[in-house]
Amino acid sequence: MEAKIQPKILAEKRKELGRIVPIDVPFSVQIDICSACNFKCNFCFHSDIAAVEKANVKFGSMSYELFCKIIDDMKREWKTKGKVKKLRLFKVGEPLLNKNVCEMIHYAKSADVAEKIEITTNGSMLNPELNQKLIDAGLDILNISVNGINEAQYKKVCNYEMSFDEYLSNIRDFYERKADKCRLTIKYSDIGYTDEINQKFYEIFSDKCDEMFVETISDTLWQDTNISKNVKKAQVGTYGDEIVQKKVCPFLFTTLVINESGIAHLCCVDWKNEYMLGDLNKESINSIWTGVILRKYQMLHLKGNKDKMDLCKKCQSLSANTPDNLDLYADQVLARMESGGIS
Ligand code: SF4
Ligand code: SF4
Repeated sequence: MEAKIQPKILAEKRKELGRIVPIDVPFSVQIDICSACNFKCNFCFHSDIAAVEKANVKFGSMSYELFCKIIDDMKREWKTKGKVKKLRLFKVGEPLLNKNVCEMIHYAKSADVAEKIEITTNGSMLNPELNQKLIDAGLDILNISVNGINEAQYKKVCNYEMSFDEYLSNIRDFYERKADKCRLTIKYSDIGYTDEINQKFYEIFSDKCDEMFVETISDTLWQDTNISKNVKKAQVGTYGDEIVQKKVCPFLFTTLVINESGIAHLCCVDWKNEYMLGDLNKESINSIWTGVILRKYQMLHLKGNKDKMDLCKKCQSLSANTPDNLDLYADQVLARMESGGIS
């Protein structure tokens, strides 16, 4: 069957955020089960080794025990408040490098803490055996980020040598094996390719997934790295939509991001882990989600002071990476938070 051409973000119904935040349970909890990556894509901070060393960022896998502790927190503390819509088991690395990935999916699925469990992968580790295990574990959505349409492009852009035929065969295997148990989306990262190359992507993958889209990459996504030289300045948002400059970041109100060592921090853009919200090794997930540090950042944004945070000042993600817009509701949200004793 031909895949539907649509950005994955449009596959979900969205709520008018301004009317409902702050929310008791985040829409999305994003756990980086492996921050290491076997690729070094030239549009990703992983390729700027000097910047990574300077920032003293260490990569690794989350332990199974810590992962289970986080899921247990979610179950215990949010059971009566509702499930998160998405549990995303990835952030800045390749999640399928974590040897416990299937056990983690199974544990979270059995705990019933999320409506959907989702993974985004570069697809290089897929093979028939792992594909079956991922499906059996209960994975709901697999997103594959395709970064090339042939071996030469993978070598050039991702610094990775592979058999492209084998890669395609493993993706097709997942697609055929999963039947209707899981949704498979494939996106191509457009760093300024020609329309012809982007079209070729659609031709190659249209019979190997449910949905597909060419996403733009922001040249400002990974701050304090040299990747902007490899990425053409995007004229449209990630999902092909208009870039709308915003003052309040929606991600701060919807998503809790946890790195591989259990540190909750500001967002995915915070690749250096500079803005820590709490430590899941010592604190509970709800105490961090409702804690004073996150509230302080939310308030700064709502009061029009996001530029006091260096990372947010230079960030385009809130404008180019989500259709949600809280700007018009900032006063209402502030009033709700203050009347609820949050200030
Ligand atoms: S596959 Fe993803 S995480 Fe890995 S280097 Fe490429 S863009 Fe970065
Ligand atoms: S504005 Fe950017 S850096 Fe700041 S919280 Fe939002 S996504 Fe993160």
